Amino acid sequence: MDEVEPNDGAPSRLPATNSNIRPGHALPFVAPSSYLRPKPKPRIPSVSEPTPMSPIDEEQLQGLKGLREFLQRRTSYDVLPLSFRLIVLDNDLLIKKSLNILIQNGIVSAPLWDSHTSRFAGLLTSTDYMNVIQYYCQFPNEIDNVEKFRLSSLRDIEKAIGVQTLETVSVHPSRPLYEACSRMLKSRARRIPLVDIDDETGRETVVSVITQYRILKFIAVNTEQYTSLLKKSVREIQLGTYKNLATCQMSDSVLDVINLMVVQNISAVPVVDKNNTVLNVFEAVDVIPCIKGGAYDELKSPIGEALCKRPEDFQGIYTCTEDDRLDAIFQTLRQSRVHRLVVIDDRQQLRGIISLSDILKYVLFYGEDVDYFSS
Ligand code: AMP
Repeated sequence: MDEVEPNDGAPSRLPATNSNIRPGHALPFVAPSSYLRPKPKPRIPSVSEPTPMSPIDEEQLQGLKGLREFLQRRTSYDVLPLSFRLIVLDNDLLIKKSLNILIQNGIVSAPLWDSHTSRFAGLLTSTDYMNVIQYYCQFPNEIDNVEKFRLSSLRDIEKAIGVQTLETVSVHPSRPLYEACSRMLKSRARRIPLVDIDDETGRETVVSVITQYRILKFIAVNTEQYTSLLKKSVREIQLGTYKNLATCQMSDSVLDVINLMVVQNISAVPVVDKNNTVLNVFEAVDVIPCIKGGAYDELKSPIGEALCKRPEDFQGIYTCTEDDRLDAIFQTLRQSRVHRLVVIDDRQQLRGIISLSDILKYVLFYGEDVDYFSS
């Protein structure tokens, strides 16, 4: 295993790597209707609710309120750099050619354009390539056709392999940033295209694409006065996922791990050893170099080999413990290129995973809408 940096309480990085039971009929008697009463739902205090709270709770809610107001004041335009490039791919392009274009330009997604209707046609991401691989596994006799598939066939591929078709969400760049975040979270998209209407032609124009990563970086860099108030720990706010974690081992095949990501609709799988010690994380973007040049057979090779194909500037895997506080996580987001945090215990064993979507969901919805938050 790669050497692990000592954990000093802040998120760290793994380098490029009584019994009080009453018998049922004993006194005091309980009326049958007591048994029938539905269990009360756990309550989450509302941000605006005037209930007595500890100073830490108060500060936390004050921080969240500040962040939400910030996201309502700022627009998606504000997140964009002064100068940027945008690569838009025609929906008629062959899927294999699109892969080369992404690799040559060092990008992992691109908006699609339907030149027949002159309309935005969705977003190409690494999930689409994983779906093509899944299709190839389910229909091995179709390998020759896979080569001929165009980007416009991606929706048919999703239907053929039975995965949920992602909604083609977009947002106008001058709408509040809160709206872009909310749309992404509700549709489970990790990035959202900014689509404007051209004044002269009245047609749609894709301005850019913003990711959860960019938005959280923007929040972390610009709102330290609010993020510094978020002093509750990961454990206290139950940030992330801790049950039914999808994991893999170094010897598992890339194909098996891709299958896991497609079926569970997740973008990363921690790589652990037999003691559940975290060794690395296989991410959806790691699929792209694996299928470079149409080498689908290489997908049978072990995850350990695939991880060696990562670009040299790979930032490593970020970890934290359940005792780390959200303000420390925001500090890490401010300083580093973090796409998720693997939650480990003091023996580096896997406890959970915190995705950027978990952090955004907490920032936007905690205490606002119990049903959505617990979904
Ligand atoms: P993501 O795929 O990173 O957008 O995460 C979507 C949701 O799945 C988040 O709530 C994550 O906490 C959860 N998640 C991410 N990776 C895993 C995994 N390997 N096993 C189980 N849940 C995960």
